[in-house]
Amino acid sequence: MHGMDSHCHLEKMPDGTAEEAKKHINGIVTICADIEDAKKTLGLIDGKFVFGALGLHPESADKYPPKALDDYIQFIFSSRKKLSAIGEVGVDYIWHKKKEEQENDEEIFRQFIELSKELKLPLVVHSRGDNAVHDVIRILTGEDCRGSILHFFSGTEQELKDALELGYWIAYNTVICKSKKYEMLIQKTPIGSVLLETDAPWCSPFPDEKGQENVPWNIHESAKKIGGILGMPKEDVLKKTEENARKAYRI
Ligand SMILES: [Zn+2]
Repeated sequence: MHGMDSHCHLEKMPDGTAEEAKKHINGIVTICADIEDAKKTLGLIDGKFVFGALGLHPESADKYPPKALDDYIQFIFSSRKKLSAIGEVGVDYIWHKKKEEQENDEEIFRQFIELSKELKLPLVVHSRGDNAVHDVIRILTGEDCRGSILHFFSGTEQELKDALELGYWIAYNTVICKSKKYEMLIQKTPIGSVLLETDAPWCSPFPDEKGQENVPWNIHESAKKIGGILGMPKEDVLKKTEENARKAYRI
């Protein structure tokens, strides 16, 4: 058995999810996206099966005053030993359409980039909306952040090329199972750069049915899909992408 869900939100899932996941995959990286979830996330990390990251989703970032952000950054410093990454952080242009909002996204993102460099942890990068992937690549490139993880990658072919050249990990979400637009990207991504992720409890790989929640072991569905596109057995996809995730997060 192989496989690692490199990005989900375990604190949003029912108790016992990690125990159930042990029957299907080899590990989970749980990603904290909001200050209010940080303590719960830390409590879920065991360093054996559940690994984790602390960050601040751009969707939540502007609800906190600067002081709360400073305190959170201090909290992350003091939690360093339990962490495998900083994230998710980044920019969201679906949520933030105004120029000043987008500038604010970038400013906060840059604070977390600094933090990741000081703590020597990789970044888990969120980018959503027109130009978002382009902008995060621009921002990261100036900062020399090789080894960053581009969560839920959905950029263009050129952006994929740039990201690969710059040494970023490309994380494909379970939504690849129900959207054709990822097939070309998957064909052009060397399997040695791919991570699998669910973003559970959201982003189920199955057609939209009411109440369908995603679970970490649905990476099996992604592996099947990618295996079909690349002509690889599903188990090999799970094995290789688990190795990648362990390298990316140094776990
Ligand atoms: Zn997420």
